[in-house]
Amino acid sequence: MESGQDLIVCEHCDTVYRREPLTRGQVSTCLECGAVLERHQWIGLDGQFALILAAFIVFVIANCTPIVSLGFSGMQSATTLWGAVIAMWNDSSQVVAVLTAMTLFFFPLTQILIFGWVLWFARDGIRAPGFAPAMIALYYVKPWSMIEVFMLGVLVAVVKASSYFEVVPGPGVWAFAVLTILITIFASHDSRELWNVTRDTSE
Ligand SMILES: [Zn+2]
Repeated sequence: MESGQDLIVCEHCDTVYRREPLTRGQVSTCLECGAVLERHQWIGLDGQFALILAAFIVFVIANCTPIVSLGFSGMQSATTLWGAVIAMWNDSSQVVAVLTAMTLFFFPLTQILIFGWVLWFARDGIRAPGFAPAMIALYYVKPWSMIEVFMLGVLVAVVKASSYFEVVPGPGVWAFAVLTILITIFASHDSRELWNVTRDTSE
């Protein structure tokens, strides 16, 4: 008797295949339409959990430490991400302020928390309570956490501002840089795999 976990369905054309174990770097593709069926997962569940924990710590540092400090005729002023968001809000750029807060704070935080929750249980091969909605939420949140766009924006702003002010990148910027790398590693990882390595215990 074949269990559902030994089969894999092409997302694009619904062709069904028997799952084959993949070796490092291997990718299985659909013979009918060429879509990617599955990638070899090079980080184990414990490794993923450690990564997400690291991402959470870095996220806290990134949000609590100054991202940039500006010097102007002997005065120094440092701002955190939230300082910048509040300044934009007061400067009647409410739309930009809300977008910044969403893409740099709420979406990455949601992503980190949901991943942490799901992985915590997945390490024991169990589906976390609310597993299916959590996986769907991750799917929708992923494209909205755009820390790398922010990094580019900061670079441009720093280069521009440095002709008027003395600009010193704060620890927050380095934390965001590390966070960008961690989230990119995560984004390259196929989280659908979690469906296969966990069993539903509620049945
Ligand atoms: Zn296909």
